[in-house]
Amino acid sequence: MEIINRKQRMASIARKLRRESKTVGFVPTMGALHEGHLTLVKEARQMSDIVIVSIFVNPTQFGPGEDFERYPRDLTADAAMLAEYEVDYVFAPDTDEIYIPGFSTYVYVEGLTETLEGASRPGHFRGVATVVTILLNTVRPDLAFFGSKDAQQVGVVKRLTRDLGFETEIVVVPTVREESGLAMSSRNAYLNEDERQKASILYQALREAKLAFKNGERNASAIAQIVEDKIATEPLARIDYVAVVSNDDLEPIDKIADSEVLVAVAVRFGKVRLIDNVILNRKQ
Ligand code: AMP
Repeated sequence: MEIINRKQRMASIARKLRRESKTVGFVPTMGALHEGHLTLVKEARQMSDIVIVSIFVNPTQFGPGEDFERYPRDLTADAAMLAEYEVDYVFAPDTDEIYIPGFSTYVYVEGLTETLEGASRPGHFRGVATVVTILLNTVRPDLAFFGSKDAQQVGVVKRLTRDLGFETEIVVVPTVREESGLAMSSRNAYLNEDERQKASILYQALREAKLAFKNGERNASAIAQIVEDKIATEPLARIDYVAVVSNDDLEPIDKIADSEVLVAVAVRFGKVRLIDNVILNRKQ
């Protein structure tokens, strides 16, 4: 496994791999790796000849007052884990390798980015779309792996690859959870033991929504209410939003029909903001 810091070197290795007709699977991350990330890596390992993982805490996707400075970073531990999973290259650039002096070009995906996380975190998806564009343009992978825990991010990345004509196929991997149901996240490290236990309320609430749907509930606002009521039983939890939207365009819906519906939540526990979701009517 080789660790690469320079964008030019990463691009030249990627060019060589293309000349050799190797299929490249790419997993972009911000590091502080956990089982969720490693599941993406395993999937990439199975589906590609060469696996490249990037580790880059992307400043432009953090808003003012968010946790960019204190975001957990441990490249040594991350690299050791990735070596065990037979990753071929780790791309870990410094900020100024990606945002070169005088950088002034940003990618903005209209519509999709204006609701949910986009509404709560202005500028977040501009940062995500910009860095994903730079990374995909550098690595030019055949496959890129993203977690459905960040469902809106998946929608944004699919849209930008389609609109900008990237040939990379986006592979979506289901959310990996702790035994309690809590979705794994690098930000779970900020939770104390008590909060961590109680944070499983997000998944319990989403499971109740799934159950109600299974039992015939088709009214989107009734589903949202079930989720809100359940989360409200946990005094430590402060709801940011509960949304029941079309999984295609993230537009609000009234009645749930046959197409995929995203039930998404964002909840604060103290200073920590957690997101989670389930999809109803999931098509394989
Ligand atoms: P991050 O390091 O948080 O930017 O995440 C990197 C990638 O890992 C993104 O595609 C995430 O959606 C994915 N990911 C994060 N947590 C999980 C999880 N619990 N299960 C599956 N994928 C995840």
